[in-house]
Amino acid sequence: MGAKVLVLGGGGREHAIAWKLAQSEQVETVYCAPGNPGTAGEEKLFNLKLNPNNPQAVVAEAHVLDIQLVVIGPEAPLVAGVGDALRRAGIPVFGPDQAGAMLEGSKAHAKAFMMRHGLPTARYERFTDTTHALEYLHGHPLPVVVKADGLAAGKGVVVASTMQEAETAVRQFLQWGPIIIEEFLEGEEASFIAIIVDGQVLPLAGSQDHKRLLDDDQGPNTGGMGAYSPAPVLDTAMSEQVLREIMRPAAQGLMADGTPYCGFLYAGLMIGRDGPKLLEFNCRLGDPETQPLMMRLRSDLYTVLLLAALGERLPPELEWDERSALCVVMAAEGYPEHPRTGDAIAGLGTAETDTVKVFHAGTKSVDGHVATAGGRVLGVTALGDSLAIAQHHAYSVVAKIHWSGVQFRRDIGHLGLRRD
Ligand code: AMP
Repeated sequence: MGAKVLVLGGGGREHAIAWKLAQSEQVETVYCAPGNPGTAGEEKLFNLKLNPNNPQAVVAEAHVLDIQLVVIGPEAPLVAGVGDALRRAGIPVFGPDQAGAMLEGSKAHAKAFMMRHGLPTARYERFTDTTHALEYLHGHPLPVVVKADGLAAGKGVVVASTMQEAETAVRQFLQWGPIIIEEFLEGEEASFIAIIVDGQVLPLAGSQDHKRLLDDDQGPNTGGMGAYSPAPVLDTAMSEQVLREIMRPAAQGLMADGTPYCGFLYAGLMIGRDGPKLLEFNCRLGDPETQPLMMRLRSDLYTVLLLAALGERLPPELEWDERSALCVVMAAEGYPEHPRTGDAIAGLGTAETDTVKVFHAGTKSVDGHVATAGGRVLGVTALGDSLAIAQHHAYSVVAKIHWSGVQFRRDIGHLGLRRD
């Protein structure tokens, strides 16, 4: 009898994780809660009607289904304490406890952690009232970064190039709670993700995301419009530096703070003249970075995550496809502000090829066809012998898929291509 795995979440990241887990010979079934039409259409995968953010409901379902491993995809269940509840119930789970997830749940907590453990990051101050915040802001050079302290799904950050813009952000974010005013860092952004099990650090391949909505990195910030791996900016020397200066000290810092940690730790980096600096931590994989990472991962994901969940020794490294992988996110009209849903998606049936996988995110099944159901709808992800070839393959499949108002960037990979 093979293993039964439960994946919590229903976005593109979770489709990619579940798809990869199902490739393991050890795995018999992967349940996705709630999953999406993409996971419903895969071999070995089944969707469950289960609220992934409800700790008791998840524990109960894991018992009923005799689950051997739970993998938590998004941040919400982590912050809600689903990891804690599963651990208390003796069910192996990959994903940190609530206390560990605070590295993502509160930017102020994360910044204090970075300072306490000597991790390189931007200077900052935290504020809870408008008078002090504005006084500090007026003495701050431009550009300046204003952040809401709390989960804001990538929408709680403003990089302001004028005082007026910064003031508006300060006033708006303070209505929601405490804020952070932070020094602007120059450089190239990259994502460095590792599996952390207490003191152990097992790095994933490097990747890069595209946060802005429009080509040339213009327009508003989004959850991410595309990604690729490897990222040329994270070459061997830079990856070593990130491990040495950030990931290993972070793993040690969690131990020193008495915070057990089992899960992905995602370092959002700004790589500038004086080395890598931390923009943020996430306590889970990035979306859409996961899609190219899972396309390239050669190691058996189930085996590695189970070892981690059991607190056992991790392998010294993961194996990766030498090729590049690139994901183009196809989003709904109105994304990120007011995505329109319910548009029928054409061309899905024949889109995939040997080297291109279409991961679902915001989709739903309606009367036998698939329609849009969220902001980011699909992640078209391709492998190629070079980044340019992966880009070409991805866009040739993007061209076959259509719905009313579809939007996507046409320059995913541009930073990497410039370095190549
Ligand atoms: P965060 O949610 O903290 O990663 O911020 C979202 C985006 O805002 C980042 O991906 C960066 O593009 C930008 N950003 C955040 N903090 C800074 C900073 N200190 N300097 C420059 N850009 C930043």
